[in-house]
Amino acid sequence: MPDAIDQQLRVELDDLERRGLRRETVLDGHDVGVDFGSNDYLGLSRDPAIAAAMIRAIEEHGAGGRSARLLRGGSPLHEQCEAAVASWLGAAAGLLFPSGYQANLGLVGAVVGRGDAVISDRDNHASLIDAARLSRARVHVHEHGDLEDLERVLRACSGARRRLVLTEGVFSMAGDKAPLREIDALCREYDAWLVVDEAHSVGVLGRDGSGAWSELAIDSGHRLLARVVTGGKALGVAGAFVVGSSTLRAQLIHRARSFLFTTAPPPALAGGLLAAISRCRQAASERAALHNNAQQLAERLGLPSPAAAIVPVPIGDAGEAVRIAGVLAENGFYAPAVRPPTVASGASRLRLVCHSDHRDEDIARLAEVLLKQPRGRTVDDSLVVAQAPLTCVVGTDTGVGKTVVSAVLLRAASSVGAARYWKPVQTGEDDDTACVAELADACAEMLLPNLLSYALPASPHAAAAAEGRAVELSDLQAALRDHRINQADAHIILEFAGGLLVPLSLEPLVMQADWLAGMNAQVVLVARSGLGTLNHTMLTVEALRARGLRPAALFLVGEPHPSNRATLAAVAEIDRIYEVPLWESLSVDVIDAWLQDHDVARLFDG
Ligand code: PMP
Repeated sequence: MPDAIDQQLRVELDDLERRGLRRETVLDGHDVGVDFGSNDYLGLSRDPAIAAAMIRAIEEHGAGGRSARLLRGGSPLHEQCEAAVASWLGAAAGLLFPSGYQANLGLVGAVVGRGDAVISDRDNHASLIDAARLSRARVHVHEHGDLEDLERVLRACSGARRRLVLTEGVFSMAGDKAPLREIDALCREYDAWLVVDEAHSVGVLGRDGSGAWSELAIDSGHRLLARVVTGGKALGVAGAFVVGSSTLRAQLIHRARSFLFTTAPPPALAGGLLAAISRCRQAASERAALHNNAQQLAERLGLPSPAAAIVPVPIGDAGEAVRIAGVLAENGFYAPAVRPPTVASGASRLRLVCHSDHRDEDIARLAEVLLKQPRGRTVDDSLVVAQAPLTCVVGTDTGVGKTVVSAVLLRAASSVGAARYWKPVQTGEDDDTACVAELADACAEMLLPNLLSYALPASPHAAAAAEGRAVELSDLQAALRDHRINQADAHIILEFAGGLLVPLSLEPLVMQADWLAGMNAQVVLVARSGLGTLNHTMLTVEALRARGLRPAALFLVGEPHPSNRATLAAVAEIDRIYEVPLWESLSVDVIDAWLQDHDVARLFDG
């Protein structure tokens, strides 16, 4: 790898290492212990009948998928396993994808696009999140399992052409069931359609393991568009199906890009899945053992009764989760720590996955080892390292009004709870912290000191270089982490220096935006109101999108413009846009009066 980019990537990896988030793929052949980590719920990944079917498929149809399905790739087994999964779930049709990730990407992108709304549970799997993002529909996230919040969101997107609600039958990380009957009722009321990812429920719940939706036995009038059945979990193989109507299948083969533009899965996969579906339908005793094991484990750990096979043990801090996973490994158990980005920062956990073939003594010993951990470290949340929520104020340029907006935000955040302001890098003679202190009437406790300040009014890298110094990303990251832990009860408002893409350092090249990308923060964008702002704002929004970020709000500062706000609302897809006039005299009273008419505090109540 060329040195320069290698060096930049190493900065990111070093940061992961420091935060206890570094991982490896290696399973170096040695015994990893009793498996409480994989999703092989029924032990079918080692089922001899399924393995034999895969071998037979290779012998009869060859090893390769050869080309995309629409270009005569695949084999007769592909259609056979699709018919089998549809019949199992009581649906008209199924379509095979190479993986669950691709199934979700293909499905969502095939049914919604610009002008539509996707409504997604906060805890949905990354494949659903990415599918929603890639679809170009407007994405609305509601609180996990919260029907009131779902209804609020559904009401808010009544103007969309089509509304698609995404949920999981059993959530992969929390292990709980979605309230599908109630979600379906809301979909009926608000004319929305429902996708249920049954990755962790098919094979585990419902008659013959046919999943969480089947359990409800809703016959008519429902709003279910599709279910996603992954083949790599209870079915023990790999791949995934989208299951729904024949019309949906037809739409998918024309519109699902992750189906159209990829080689057909090999015949062995289709043959294996065909055998696995048949085997899984008959696995009633394995399912009973699985549920019994999950109940037993939760009971022994003093945790609530699990909805299916996943027993999450909250830990909080990623490093602590890794330490406990290490203790388990030393004791002969495989139960990996689940850490960011799989779960939110501060929500690291052990995800214990029960299998049908766990023995009573395995469960008893695992519980014993966990309960021996220093009190409060495993099943007690008290040691969870809480981190302050963070809002980053970024600008399209320097001098656009970030500091005034930061004062407005600090004032609004303080009306909801404790709040802090931090300008980590200050360049030039201005003292933005003093300015915010005055405008927001903030006491000293609310103001975190600059970490770096340089006299030259320039980009951080140039201002530092002018004094023979350099900005180290790792120093900024460490200071932020300390503030977030020490100020865990407050909401931190962090103001960036200059425009979003100014560099912190040139060698290695690190932009402010790169720091922002790893923060897990809410982003507020500040731009000018007048001429030139469309281009600057869209460029900045695109730079944020390229890093997987979307502004929660846009502030347009200056003389209100007749059309810029509406244009940006349409093009930049930002839910909240505020216009802040050029106040003749700046004061806390003026800000408070403006806040009376503008619900900025909403940004801080989640
Ligand atoms: N959806 C959910 C809920 C999942 O847990 C997973 C896998 N962890 C997937 C989709 C992706 O499936 P696959 O591994 O087949 O890509």
